[in-house]
Amino acid sequence: MNVIDIINKLYSENDASKEELLYLLDNINEEEKNLLIEKAHETRMRTYSNKVYLRGLIELTSFCKKDCLYCGLRRSNKSAERYRLNIDEVLECVRKGDKLGYKTFVLQGGEDAYYTDDVMVEIITAIKNEFPNNALTLSLGERSYESYEKMFKAGADRYLLRHESASKKLYESIHPGEPYEVRFNCLKNLKEIGYQAGAGFMVGIPNQTNEDLANDLRFVKEFEPAMCGIGPFIPHKDTPLKDYPHGSLEKTVICLAIVRLLLPKVLLPATTALSSIDKNGRNAGLKAGGNVIMPNLSPMSVRKKYSLYNNKAYILDEDAEYRRLTEEKIKEAGFEVEITRGDNPDFRG
Ligand code: SAH
Ligand code: SF4
Repeated sequence: MNVIDIINKLYSENDASKEELLYLLDNINEEEKNLLIEKAHETRMRTYSNKVYLRGLIELTSFCKKDCLYCGLRRSNKSAERYRLNIDEVLECVRKGDKLGYKTFVLQGGEDAYYTDDVMVEIITAIKNEFPNNALTLSLGERSYESYEKMFKAGADRYLLRHESASKKLYESIHPGEPYEVRFNCLKNLKEIGYQAGAGFMVGIPNQTNEDLANDLRFVKEFEPAMCGIGPFIPHKDTPLKDYPHGSLEKTVICLAIVRLLLPKVLLPATTALSSIDKNGRNAGLKAGGNVIMPNLSPMSVRKKYSLYNNKAYILDEDAEYRRLTEEKIKEAGFEVEITRGDNPDFRG
């Protein structure tokens, strides 16, 4: 086995075994990393050309009943400031976003019992009535099959539910009392219902090994999500993982490039977490096959309260100015903003 052969296989066959992925992660050097990134970029140019899709992110609620060890919104964090947006506030964000040219809205939040199926159906219906041509993505964690189905029927198009880690042991160590199978079942249900489903994982979770990452990469290949969110773990000061270092830019970029090669058509964000650990993070993500950016559309007054991790990038940038600068920076990097819904061509409904 050698790294160059594995990269060439990834490029020509869009596949690699767990052993090959592990070997690559363990042994890749700087030069080989550049080759991997080049191949990922070529693949992205073939499938999506130099287009970058924008998703306006609306952070719906900072209440959460879960206790994920890594996250600042975990229920045990008594210092977290909690808020929730009502339907009018959401609609205001959506209108602002549409004007800025965001044709996909993402409603993301903690697992908050306030947002019952009825409340969500009302919000989704209102958004879709006003903006029938825009795509709506939800990212509200684990819910029942029936709940996912009701929200889909109300008009939601996509659902982001990162699998977080495909290694049962690691998954359960960062989600105490939460069986690994439940989340995977949710992902299966989302796909079955007809959502464009998004999986994904963090890079650099404390005690994560390259074998864990190889499991994540194989999971992504086999599950074949329409989207895949990959970002570095970043510590939050009020969580049990506060003293651990953040995941590295380099390893995150390697994982992004591998996922682009494993799934040429996947929608792959250059995440805010990646920008938060390095000022060139976003460009590095785009150059390694990333083709999505998710600018914040939340009301300014709640942004600091939606604190999954510390030192989040762009947190208080004014929306119109941010939009202009984003486009400018994307152009500088050789890419182009695309004002469409940006569906995965294999999953267009
Ligand atoms: N509650 C939902 C959606 C909000 S959290 C859910 O958990 O699915 C969205 C994502 O933020 C999570 O999937 C997780 O991967 C990421 N996240 C949370 N805490 C983080 C941290 N400390 N560093 C990096 N990413 C984090
Ligand atoms: Fe809640 Fe999501 Fe944070 Fe877990 S990661 S505590 S589910 S907001």
